[in-house]
Amino acid sequence: MLDANLANKSHPQQRTIVQLSEQVALGDREIVIIGGPCTVESLAQMEAVASVVPVNALRGGVYKPRTSPYAFQGLGVEGLEILSSVRRRYGLPVVTEVMAISQIETIAAHADMLQVGSRNMQNFDLLKALGQVDKPILLKRGLSATIEEFVMAAEYILSHGNSQVVLCERGIRSFDTYTRNVLDLGAVVALKQITHLPVLVDPSHATGKRELIPDLSRAAIAAGADGLIIECHPEPEKSVSDARQALSLETMVELIQSLNEIATAIGRQIHLPKLQVPAMAA
Ligand code: PEP
Ligand code: MN
Repeated sequence: MLDANLANKSHPQQRTIVQLSEQVALGDREIVIIGGPCTVESLAQMEAVASVVPVNALRGGVYKPRTSPYAFQGLGVEGLEILSSVRRRYGLPVVTEVMAISQIETIAAHADMLQVGSRNMQNFDLLKALGQVDKPILLKRGLSATIEEFVMAAEYILSHGNSQVVLCERGIRSFDTYTRNVLDLGAVVALKQITHLPVLVDPSHATGKRELIPDLSRAAIAAGADGLIIECHPEPEKSVSDARQALSLETMVELIQSLNEIATAIGRQIHLPKLQVPAMAA
């Protein structure tokens, strides 16, 4: 392993706790559940998620890294305003992806955590710039990144001054075409052993198939993940992106409820917020 002086543990008990809001902390005893659609499509869509699914934080992309340049690229600033509104009205932190240095300032004004997507895990200039941001960064593992490359990408952010880094295992490419990627739970265990950073699992992009997500979510918690980031949608089949892996809101609620027993069995807890009646728009 290359010298990841800042990301690696200096003693076995060392851990970093990343605060998303006053109530939500990653890397502590509590398991954190983040949910929402792949892409922010409308205010009604985000409100449907926030009012039905008891999550600790919401996700939703507004700048989307799409394989095809002709596919929908995200709502941009309009999407950020939707996230801000839902964040304020439901009292939930939000996470969204940043693809370019030029987007950092605007996104940081609306979101509680900035996501670096797999395709940008080794965009070193972006990582350096995020090192100077006073917000948590959710760093997703690259499509074919080794554990060492992943940890060194985190090291870029840490060494440029931002200590609030959260790692996310989201599956890696392999030869099998049955699933979109291969969920590497071994990496989750290894990352928890070698680094002090919180580790999330994204079973949605890891599998690409909604029917595989509940069991793998439970396996991820049992393996020691600090939380999950899962895609769900009020009308999964109509998702503008990643429809095949989107859970219905009902399935998402059931899945979240099923995690409690596993968390308890490994000495952890899940603290879900009560579903909110939205605060009046300001
Ligand atoms: C996402 O979380 O919306 C996403 C694009 O994921 P990944 O970067 O892991 O493919
Ligand atoms: Mn997606």
